Amino acid sequence: MLRQGSPISNIQKRSLMDYSRFISPKSARRQPSAIRSLAPLLSLPGMISLGGGNPHPDSFPYVGLSFRLRSGEVIDVPEKEVQQALQYSPTNGIPQLVSWLKNLQLTEHKPPTGDNFEICLGNGSQDVLTKAFDMLLSEGDTLLCESPAYVGSLAYLRPLGCKFAEVPSDGEGLQPEALESVLANWKDIATRPRVLYTVPIGGNPTGCSTTLDRKKKIYEIARKYDIIILEDDPYYYLQFGNTRTASYFSMDVDQRVLRFDSFSKILSAGVRVGWVTGPKPLVDRIVLHSQASILHASGMSQMMVYKVLEHWGIEGFLAHTSQVSAFYENKGKAFMQSAEKHLKGLAEWVQPNAGMFVWIKLLNGVMDSSSLIKTKAVEKKVLMVPGFEFFPNPRTTPYVRASFSTATEEEIDIALARLAEIIKEEQ
Ligand code: PMP
Repeated sequence: MLRQGSPISNIQKRSLMDYSRFISPKSARRQPSAIRSLAPLLSLPGMISLGGGNPHPDSFPYVGLSFRLRSGEVIDVPEKEVQQALQYSPTNGIPQLVSWLKNLQLTEHKPPTGDNFEICLGNGSQDVLTKAFDMLLSEGDTLLCESPAYVGSLAYLRPLGCKFAEVPSDGEGLQPEALESVLANWKDIATRPRVLYTVPIGGNPTGCSTTLDRKKKIYEIARKYDIIILEDDPYYYLQFGNTRTASYFSMDVDQRVLRFDSFSKILSAGVRVGWVTGPKPLVDRIVLHSQASILHASGMSQMMVYKVLEHWGIEGFLAHTSQVSAFYENKGKAFMQSAEKHLKGLAEWVQPNAGMFVWIKLLNGVMDSSSLIKTKAVEKKVLMVPGFEFFPNPRTTPYVRASFSTATEEEIDIALARLAEIIKEEQ
């Protein structure tokens, strides 16, 4: 593995790929913000700024920031960092958090091209993910899309006017043979898809993860057909058991992976902090987009996240995430027990190995879960999401997505007993 500062990594501090053919015309038109480009000049010795629009910090009513952890520890943020959090800051993120995350990515994923990557923080990973869609897709383009897929991405992609080439997944994740077949049979090379979107761990909605063996095959297919992989991985640290399957980013010898991480499921969803990691030319375009839209992710949120990460260190962070994953693993087990008790013979499901979702196929002649889940289940006071929402191209399906994240074990048991009644009534 190449390490930060090693001679080879310095030689490789340039793009291994030409990304121009991947960039949408809309993204290609993006220019740096005139105001934001002045920011680095501010730190030059003797510079007097009459150029920026920063509000004067003495006018802010806040002077201190401290927060209490569940462990009882209290973190007092030093005044200088409080001021930093309250002011405008760099678009890609506050430098200390960016640097902490670079170190995390190097330590955790050991990317084969070393530190030859960039990071940009966003308002949750959804923010940077949707900017990546904008950067890489235009109306009429076809996206290789895992099927079923995260509904939040589909909601963004549909109005973009792109088409979907569905790549099915099963209990072992995305199917490499199906991916190869779509690409090998594509008639016109000019319109062949250039981008693959996947949620490889604890899939939303399936709860299933792509195995390492499949990931390797998929990465090789991406190389063969020159595909960029969008690795949307907010459940990466919620893998059950004490192992974590290697990411696409960790095998990315070509720099064709954009990886999306999120603090939503491991620290807090409300802080709205997520980040993209990947090749500089692509991440820089996402930065350009943010310069013109959100300016930067909330400084207060970033500081709140950074101070706890700094306090823990990487080891403490991983100890925390393994507690969170054990929490969900136990909830998942309780869900499985209730499912066995109530749904046997009435439904089929695959035991999730990460995340917080179970993808349930309703049996007994149910061909379309839609009205059953939208009306009958709601009447019986059970909320689930009908499966059709998760398919890129419209279809009817007997599947539903259930989540075991917030309901108590008792509530899960009652809900699944009610679901069983509804399926029986359907007969
Ligand atoms: N991708 C997937 C697969 C998700 O499930 C979610 C959250 N539901 C997101 C992205 C967005 O997460 P964030 O809160 O970081 O924006």
